[in-house]
Amino acid sequence: MNETPCLKSLTDVSTLADLVMRDLDHDCEGFGAHHVCVKVEAVADLPTRFGHFRIVAFYNNRDGKEHVAIVHGDVLGQENVVTRLHSECLTGDALGSLRCDCRDQLGTALSRIAREPCGVLLYLRQEGRGIGLLNKVRAYALQDRGLDTVDANLALGFKDDERDYAVAAHMLASLTLRSVRLLTNNPRKVEEIVRHGIRVVDRIPLVIPANEHNRFYLETKANRSGHFIDFDGKPHVSEQDDPVLVVPENPG
Ligand SMILES: [Zn+2]
Ligand SMILES: [Zn+2]
Repeated sequence: MNETPCLKSLTDVSTLADLVMRDLDHDCEGFGAHHVCVKVEAVADLPTRFGHFRIVAFYNNRDGKEHVAIVHGDVLGQENVVTRLHSECLTGDALGSLRCDCRDQLGTALSRIAREPCGVLLYLRQEGRGIGLLNKVRAYALQDRGLDTVDANLALGFKDDERDYAVAAHMLASLTLRSVRLLTNNPRKVEEIVRHGIRVVDRIPLVIPANEHNRFYLETKANRSGHFIDFDGKPHVSEQDDPVLVVPENPG
């Protein structure tokens, strides 16, 4: 079933900056079970080491978290826009933690999007699979004390995933994307976003190139269940809900 609410107020505009004015009084019935509604509040240039982007900052009426879209090229009203949904991971994205693969996934996705005529990465403020930073660190602490992967997963909230892609769907609708090619290794993510009324025309696998930082993925016995053990014996879990695909520079 298509759950898209009435989108009449999300009219086309000619520039990203115009979205701020368009959304001034925006207030729709909201997306998903929690009726989340977002508004574009600010837009600015964002040159990065991965390429040149614009950053679009959103307000949402559910929890006030400040989600952003990192936009490359002209996505307004476009079809087939390469799109990545990335869930915030302070420890991985910003601090370079090797307990997860988030930073590699983020960097690879931004580099990929920068090579396309246009594309967008939604940076979703749902740290630790939606359970928050504090609980994520609590779960790490349990792993440090030897909790097995299954229990650690439970502690990380894997069975009770708090993540909600309704906010992502509304953000894509706010950006007036007509259809997307979703950059993900997880077909379930495609189903989630389609359920919220976004047209997904393709799924593109996110393949992470080998580098010195993801050495442990390549040199240890990565099994298909998506769990990795590093040299200190710490399990790595996929915090992005995406199985990791790392390709060695010289396969075979
Ligand atoms: Zn709305
Ligand atoms: Zn992470």
